[in-house]
Amino acid sequence: MSDVIVLGAGIAGVAAALHLQRRGRSVALVDRQAPGRETSYGNAGIIQGEAVEPYPMPRDLAALLGVALGRGNDVRYDLAALPGHVVPLLRYWWYSAPVRHRTLAIAWAGLIRHATAEHQDLMTAAGVPDDLVRRDGFFDMHRAETKLDAETRRAERLQREFGVAFRRLTPAELRAAEPALKTGGAGAIHWRDSWSVRDPGALVAAYADLFRRSGGTFVHGDADTLAALPSGGFRVQTADGPLEAAAVVVSLGPWSAALLRRFGQKIPMVRKRGYHRHYRVGTELSRPLRDAAFGYVAAPMTVGLRLTTGAEFAGVDAPATPVQLVRAEAAARDLVDLGAPVENAPWLGTRPCLPDMLPLIGEAPGHNGLWLHFGHGHQGFTLGPATGRLLAEMMTGEATLVDPAPFTPTRWWR
Ligand SMILES: Cc1cc2nc3c(=O)[nH]c(=O)nc-3n(C[C@H](O)[C@H](O)[C@H](O)COP(=O)(O)OP(=O)(O)OC[C@H]3O[C@@H](n4cnc5c(N)ncnc54)[C@H](O)[C@@H]3O)c2cc1C
Repeated sequence: MSDVIVLGAGIAGVAAALHLQRRGRSVALVDRQAPGRETSYGNAGIIQGEAVEPYPMPRDLAALLGVALGRGNDVRYDLAALPGHVVPLLRYWWYSAPVRHRTLAIAWAGLIRHATAEHQDLMTAAGVPDDLVRRDGFFDMHRAETKLDAETRRAERLQREFGVAFRRLTPAELRAAEPALKTGGAGAIHWRDSWSVRDPGALVAAYADLFRRSGGTFVHGDADTLAALPSGGFRVQTADGPLEAAAVVVSLGPWSAALLRRFGQKIPMVRKRGYHRHYRVGTELSRPLRDAAFGYVAAPMTVGLRLTTGAEFAGVDAPATPVQLVRAEAAARDLVDLGAPVENAPWLGTRPCLPDMLPLIGEAPGHNGLWLHFGHGHQGFTLGPATGRLLAEMMTGEATLVDPAPFTPTRWWR
């Protein structure tokens, strides 16, 4: 019997397991596959020190109309699937109002501030090789000067309000920094606080190895078998037989809300799908580059240049419709010498977002020992180690890294 079962071995679950272990808890980490093989594998690999504000939903009519008419490539929706998204999207829209978003951003920025330091702490302990991580930011390239001017004004505000470091690059400066580029467009913002990882899944696997080497148990199992025991505590079925513990942490990323429905809870997740595919390239980019006009990121990975797409709203189990990836690939061909794809088909995953853009971190009211740690949205790879620490501190009654109140499950738990 362990003290805690952590369900889900993505970045959120692995980081929570490590931080609980550091605080003397015996922890069993359970996943149906190897650690870091789902969303925490498929992302753009940016540890986003610059992302001090969670992404709001556009509120102005022109932007909403642009999405409705499918003008941009950063958001796409399947009309037939929209009814299933309406309730969470309306809430998301409500929380995106500037005055509410501002309050949420202050809580969010408090976590982001710790993101790189908390990753570094785990990287050092895990002995992560230096060539897996770059610590010199990423480029946000714009094709139109007016857009770059607008982004520069936003960057200046973020610098003033949150101390975010950036530099505006001319097209020539961008090309000098990235000789692989055929054009520097209108130039770029160089977000300097962010880090990038050449294989996000491998980083999560390295953290999971640290957990195992330090005496933790990783076991394959099905979280859907989770049951509350009449005498208190929980049981889950695993490949090694049933596992019981006094407490359980739900870190199942986009699958978390489905599990919690069995515990009588309706958590309205905003499910933003995203795709990636790797391509062979002539000359490599040195670090990730966002092509803002086409809403994708080109991130150099160990196996090739990974193009990752923006948000797609589709049915829960709808087949892949990688329209945004096709457009991203065409746009990327203008920028770099893009060769053949590495894989036969694109990867598809889902960002686990909540309507108020903040993760759920804390104990579920009325369910002693049921702890939640999910809903990191667009920046879960960034935030996993920081929120994993926060959760472990809450579970062990320590002083916490940041005020946990904004992340409390009571806000959705009804
Ligand atoms: C295209 C794309 C690009 C992104 N880019 C970035 C980025 O650059 N930077 C950033 O910070 N974030 C990025 N994100 C977001 C980030 O990837 C996620 O927020 C983060 O990975 C979520 O981590 P998680 O541990 O909560 O979920 P996951 O990594 O999905 O982990 C959940 C785990 O639960 C397991 N599981 C599910 N159901 C069961 C079950 N029934 N039984 C057992 N196990 C189960 C899964 O196997 C999985 O391992 C991106 C996301 C996408 C889709």
